Amino acid sequence: SFSAEAVPLAPEDPLFGLMAAYRADPFDKKVDLGIGAYRDNNAKPWVLPVVKKADAILRDDPALNHEYLPIAGLASFTSAAAKLILGADSPAIAEQRTTSVQTISGTGAVHLGALFLARFYPGKPTVYFSNPTWANHNQIFNNVGVPVATYPYFSKSTKGLDFTGMKKAISDAPDRSIILLHACAHNPTGVDPTQEQWKELAVLLRAKSHFPFFDCAYQGFASGDLAKDAWAVRYFVSQGFELCIAQSFAKNFGLYGERAGCFHFVTGPATDATKTIGRISSQLAILQRSEISNPPAYGARIASTVLNDPALFAEWEENLREMAGRIITMRKALRSKLEELETPGSWNHITDQIGMFSFTGLSEREVQKLRDVAHVYMTKNGRISMAGLNTGNVEYFAKAVDRVVR
Ligand code: PLP
Repeated sequence: SFSAEAVPLAPEDPLFGLMAAYRADPFDKKVDLGIGAYRDNNAKPWVLPVVKKADAILRDDPALNHEYLPIAGLASFTSAAAKLILGADSPAIAEQRTTSVQTISGTGAVHLGALFLARFYPGKPTVYFSNPTWANHNQIFNNVGVPVATYPYFSKSTKGLDFTGMKKAISDAPDRSIILLHACAHNPTGVDPTQEQWKELAVLLRAKSHFPFFDCAYQGFASGDLAKDAWAVRYFVSQGFELCIAQSFAKNFGLYGERAGCFHFVTGPATDATKTIGRISSQLAILQRSEISNPPAYGARIASTVLNDPALFAEWEENLREMAGRIITMRKALRSKLEELETPGSWNHITDQIGMFSFTGLSEREVQKLRDVAHVYMTKNGRISMAGLNTGNVEYFAKAVDRVVR
């Protein structure tokens, strides 16, 4: 029989544990480089001005109520979300070979995709993740019983992509494996394949009949350019791949806690693609119903209001450029401070990497030392959230790094 006392203690989530330790630290110059959430130049969370506007519009709408959304979510949101990632002129959308389900942010989208594949992908495939990857990928696929494996990704020597290792592992994987790919701004490394490398990967995945699963948590946030950050996904779709996409609006709208996200499935251009998509859509609805019944409304309404209004959309792009731009400025500042200090090692990777994170190359011991001597909080793999840096603390951080690596 069930014995409650026999339930073992689970380890604390490392990232959220780090956050709690930071909060409890009374030191005035402490620096939080842990969690991947945008901070303004005063280290404060930033409500996007365009989100404030959308919020005001929604509050003034007398027709708004608190009824359930449909099982697949707010249609005006999911269709705009599909256009955002696939491109408004995407042939896949025109040919009705896509289906979209609103999810509990990006995490929920990865989960729904994993669950769907666990149920319907023939032959019990293994999913391959980059090593390293967002830690939750492992747990999510484990939870639904999909075996997991990894492909090399990060080269410790160049602090860039280990493209040879990546290609070898993908070509050694059994045919028809699931290959999880970060659409842009790879978490945790900040290292993305180039467009030429993406093209090679597409050839390789096609040759092996692998199934691409794109995780897209940083569109627009990485480069400040929505189309540029969606390039890889759109390229794979243009090559006729059947694929799926987990899309988060946490970072690019600053809607972290509102859990706005979407799962998209795209089939290849076959004559009966629309029928196939109808069947997939019906199964996704059944899975969604049993898991969450229907998704949360508020974040989706905010995003939908902005995505469907050209003036607000343009303002959102402006907000995105501001966030991406501040982070790029901080990358330059950090690199130049470290170079100025002649800190041992090379630091070009700080500006070569993109998006929310930088993989500094600091060792676990150095990370611990940074915390002990300088009250700097970062994950033990040496990842820093660039958004935690600002004009007020970048020099302090650079000097602390300089101290610990000498
Ligand atoms: N996927 C990756 C690679 C991420 O970095 C994140 C957020 O950190 C997510 C998915 C999903 O986050 P959320 O569930 O908050 O949208």
